[in-house]
Amino acid sequence: MLSDQSVLNSYDVIVIGSGISGLTIALIMAKEGKKVALFERDRDIAPLIRPYRRKGCEFSPGLHIVGWMDQGEVIASFLNYLQIDDGVETKLYHNGFGNVIIGAQKYMIPRGFDSFEAKLHSYFPECHQAVKEYIKAVKEINERSFLLNHQLDIAKDTDLQFNVLEKFSLKEFLECHQASAEMIEMLGTFNNVLIGSTAEEVPFDTHAFVLGGYYQSSGAFTINGINRLLLNFKRELTNYGVDLFLNSEVAEILVDNERKVTGVKIANGNSYLAPLIITSFNPKLLMEKLAPNVLRPIFKRRLIEADNTFGLYTAFYKIDSDEELEIGNLAYYNSNTNVTLGATINKYDNDNIISVFIAENELEIPNDIEERRWRAGQRLSLLEQTIYDVFPFLRGKLVLLDYLKPWSFERFTKTVNGSAYGIKQTTKSVGFQNRVPVRGLYLVGQAIFPGFLGSLVSSFKMALELLAPDDFWLKVKRR
Ligand SMILES: Cc1cc2nc3c(=O)[nH]c(=O)nc-3n(C[C@H](O)[C@H](O)[C@H](O)COP(=O)(O)OP(=O)(O)OC[C@H]3O[C@@H](n4cnc5c(N)ncnc54)[C@H](O)[C@@H]3O)c2cc1C
Repeated sequence: MLSDQSVLNSYDVIVIGSGISGLTIALIMAKEGKKVALFERDRDIAPLIRPYRRKGCEFSPGLHIVGWMDQGEVIASFLNYLQIDDGVETKLYHNGFGNVIIGAQKYMIPRGFDSFEAKLHSYFPECHQAVKEYIKAVKEINERSFLLNHQLDIAKDTDLQFNVLEKFSLKEFLECHQASAEMIEMLGTFNNVLIGSTAEEVPFDTHAFVLGGYYQSSGAFTINGINRLLLNFKRELTNYGVDLFLNSEVAEILVDNERKVTGVKIANGNSYLAPLIITSFNPKLLMEKLAPNVLRPIFKRRLIEADNTFGLYTAFYKIDSDEELEIGNLAYYNSNTNVTLGATINKYDNDNIISVFIAENELEIPNDIEERRWRAGQRLSLLEQTIYDVFPFLRGKLVLLDYLKPWSFERFTKTVNGSAYGIKQTTKSVGFQNRVPVRGLYLVGQAIFPGFLGSLVSSFKMALELLAPDDFWLKVKRR
């Protein structure tokens, strides 16, 4: 018989982690009538994207630019279903994303597929056919996705993966259409900065879905917008009766003899029961949260072999200038120095804040403090040198507000080696799927799909798997 305490501690669903994916799936399940508990190890929700203040300026560590940001597009329809879009300020980049710079070569990414296609033709006139085929395929993949095209009948589109061209990488697709090495390098760099996998690695359909959003409608949440989004999440979690446990790190996922989840144990020793557990932490952490015999060796090997995306050394600067700056965002790669860098500019209150990151692949965080200090200093100089090379007029105008290293991100969110977008999307391993071979245990977020969009998509896909998909999707579409 159950004790009174365990009845109190019993839920239909337990969600681990309150990043954007955990918040989303917890709210969906509660809206659809489930009793939900949400556990977060940090002192407040969403430590990766929650804005914070330094030297009088406020900025978000991990949310700067998003694709598909126009009205009626996928982000808006998700936030609208969740009823958390009221008062959330967003802005569209009317001039498009900005620039991709490869060494000394600069490519502009304007707004809209047609303008982008025209630009590609002008940059790569010898690749006329490749450009045409590329844009056509990107558009087609998005038109065939029920997530973007609400005309599609989900019942006929039951395969919830984007596997139209799954076996092709971006590079293979482009080579097949005789694209030049320069065109492959440009599109590959853009992909790498925004998704964390190269042209050789990324499945073409994943590339088309995410990058398509940046071509069509790049945009951002303002800082007030992110703050409001998180407040709205909290309001709706309360409205739908979700129990939110902060400062509550899940130490163990409990599994019975039949390899079925039964609940979780928190670091403070308390246990909570549920037949369904959805976790949003980096899936490599599963091994330390489950008893050693729970995962089969073949799945453990998949976890060990899955590559994480790069870690980031990210610096935030205030631009000390009253001028209106039209420098847009930046994806940069230099093959001589092997530096991959991304930069975004956002106006927060009246300040122009630039966040710049250097990406480091196959990163293992050193234990030695001196080694960390050396690397942090070396990467910061490289980052500043690169940004001044690209935008010389910024020299002398940048005031450093804060500098986060991969180990800062690991500390904030426990993501392994500070990986920016979680598990890498490659043709060999298309992230993970929502399912884990333990009954009742599921994954969302950085295991499945990268970025803010990926967190939402992975959680809505999770809901389609757990709920009656047609009825649920009708509600998402209807709103
Ligand atoms: C510097 C940087 C810039 C970025 N910029 C962008 C951008 O401009 N656009 C974009 O789309 N994406 C961007 N991203 C990626 C984006 O921020 C992430 O993909 C997204 O926020 C991940 O959300 P998530 O819910 O999947 O994971 P997380 O936000 O990492 O959530 C996981 C949560 O689980 C909690 N947790 C972990 N272990 C436990 C445990 N045992 N018990 C309880 N809680 C636990 C963590 O504290 C965390 O809150 C950026 C990332 C970085 C690092």
